[in-house]
Amino acid sequence: MPSEFDLIARHFTRPCPGATLGVGDDAALLRPAPGMDLAVSTDMLVSGRHFLPDTDPRRLGHKTLAVNLSDLAAMGAIPRWATLALALPQADEAWLAAFSAGFFDLAAHHGVDLVGGDTTRGPLALSVTILGEVESGRALRRDAARAGDELWVSGELGGAALGLMHVQGALHLNAEHARACLARLEAPQPRVALGRALIGLARAAIDVSDGLLADLGHILERSGVGAELALERLPVPAALSPLMAQEAGRACALAGGDDYELCFTAPVSAREALAELEAELGLRLTRIGQITATAGLTVRDGEGRPLPTLRQGYDHFG
Ligand code: ADP
Ligand code: MG
Repeated sequence: MPSEFDLIARHFTRPCPGATLGVGDDAALLRPAPGMDLAVSTDMLVSGRHFLPDTDPRRLGHKTLAVNLSDLAAMGAIPRWATLALALPQADEAWLAAFSAGFFDLAAHHGVDLVGGDTTRGPLALSVTILGEVESGRALRRDAARAGDELWVSGELGGAALGLMHVQGALHLNAEHARACLARLEAPQPRVALGRALIGLARAAIDVSDGLLADLGHILERSGVGAELALERLPVPAALSPLMAQEAGRACALAGGDDYELCFTAPVSAREALAELEAELGLRLTRIGQITATAGLTVRDGEGRPLPTLRQGYDHFG
């Protein structure tokens, strides 16, 4: 049996060029740049709850970091450092090698150093704390939306939820659609570059992890505003378009979790800059509605009729 320290040395110790001191001491030492606020966020993934136990470990390593990067993206922050707390049922070297490869590939892509963590035996659970920097006072917050803002979303919505339904046997996707939707579910791409570029353009932002209606609801509540959404404008993957006439299809787009796109509000004057940004990033940006002064969230169909209330999204205790 490898010791806990062997495992950490083999799988989780890499150079930390961006830290004063990385893995191996009682604490890491980090130095944010002058004039920057530290942005800190933690997200935990529990086996059987957030992912299926037989999920490919490489993709799981990617996703464990990706969901945390997504939170920093939603603040407009630059990711810098992460810590990783692991509970593992056993020391499976092949699993750990694949998991850490997925984690470090994504970390390297975003210039993130893994500077510490904790490793213990227990039911499989993975928790990352991510730290990043954002210019003082300029972060994209949930409480900054204003009546008259337009509502935008990046990429496509509902692919991850559709992929999960396919895996669970609730519907059958053809091979091409299944591959695309499973990639959305298991290997989400955090919109870090978009979040950075939105500073100064957007007002409020959130990442769509629990479903559009639920996450947008947080912006509305914190900002003290309402919103109108146009169902027909929602950007959905090819696999989902034909299902949008059905309740289950609409639920994927409106309430499906795990897409990790950014939902943000911006003044009308930002339209042109957002169109340029879309081209520059090669990432679809879609205007899906408006922020209103009256509270409440209304989704309208193609004829302008409000949809009946839908289940809003995932709530662990709901
Ligand atoms: P302590 O007993 O002081 O908490 P540990 O023995 O738990 O220290 O960890 C030793 C070192 O390895 C620490 O620097 C810790 O941050 C790091 N570490 C432990 N687990 C991980 C992990 N999964 N990933 C990265 N670093 C880790
Ligand atoms: Mg420890």
